Amino acid sequence: MSEKNQPISGNDLARFSGPNTFMRLPAVNALAGLDVAVLGIPLDIGTSWRSGTRFGPKQVRAESAMLRPYNLGTGAAPFDGLQVADIGDLAINTFSLSDSLRIIAESYDGILKSDVKPLAIGGDHSITLPILRAIAKRHGPVALIHVDAHADVNDEMFGERECHGTVFRRAYEEGLIIPSKTYQIGLRGTGYSADDFAEAAGWGFQQFPAHELWGRSLATLGAEIRRDIGEVPVYLTYDIDSLDPAYAPGTGTPEIGGLTTPQALELIRALRGLNIVGGDLVEVSPPYDTSGNTALTGANILYEMLCVLPGVVYR
Ligand code: MN
Ligand code: MN
Repeated sequence: MSEKNQPISGNDLARFSGPNTFMRLPAVNALAGLDVAVLGIPLDIGTSWRSGTRFGPKQVRAESAMLRPYNLGTGAAPFDGLQVADIGDLAINTFSLSDSLRIIAESYDGILKSDVKPLAIGGDHSITLPILRAIAKRHGPVALIHVDAHADVNDEMFGERECHGTVFRRAYEEGLIIPSKTYQIGLRGTGYSADDFAEAAGWGFQQFPAHELWGRSLATLGAEIRRDIGEVPVYLTYDIDSLDPAYAPGTGTPEIGGLTTPQALELIRALRGLNIVGGDLVEVSPPYDTSGNTALTGANILYEMLCVLPGVVYR
């Protein structure tokens, strides 16, 4: 038996009981000794349509009580190789988006200085810009795997340059990511013009629209991306609205014709072996998630991300 932190077993303590941490892992304040920190960023003031992602971290943690430590699909035993804990929520300023983004970047500076890999539960997608600012400060420009219905490359919305729809244009302008190693997967929906995504493609972003992925396994695409990235540090950002609303209805800006849950698993599982330096799962909005399925799916996606981090043991 490993001496590392383990989730509380559903055979020892009823799943509807115990701490509301990710997978009922220990809640800790100190970063020392951790390999991976799961944290919540309960922010929804960067959204443009439905809100509610402020409740995302609490609900994803609640649904994660269902998860067991071993990945029967891949053989991953993440808690045998990595010391993982839940470090709680960042104390964002819910009256100020710009102040919240500053708080996120500063908090991440501290986490990354301690050599801890962050896995964030959002929150709307605006959290990823300050995260990438801190990540690039630590690692230099990173490869980016961005799974989303939307490219999030607006120049501004209502005159605001920092919100959930502008993240990856800012990241490109600020040199936080390697454009030719930025992969946008699952793009779709209606647009404002025929070339909504074209400018970002011109920067070098590699785009994989959902309709080109319908009915296909994503294992091959994932393997191609893994080879293309090589040894470069990579950040993984997963917008739950990449999935079809049939699977993940509880989100702010749903788009029909999205990825399936098995495709989500295939893609993440193919990324094993990459130098992943952090990740996030964003845009789960519990008020629109009447069955809890969206938060449950989000919890599983975070778990699958954990299972492909460097240092995971496979059985
Ligand atoms: Mn997004
Ligand atoms: Mn989206």
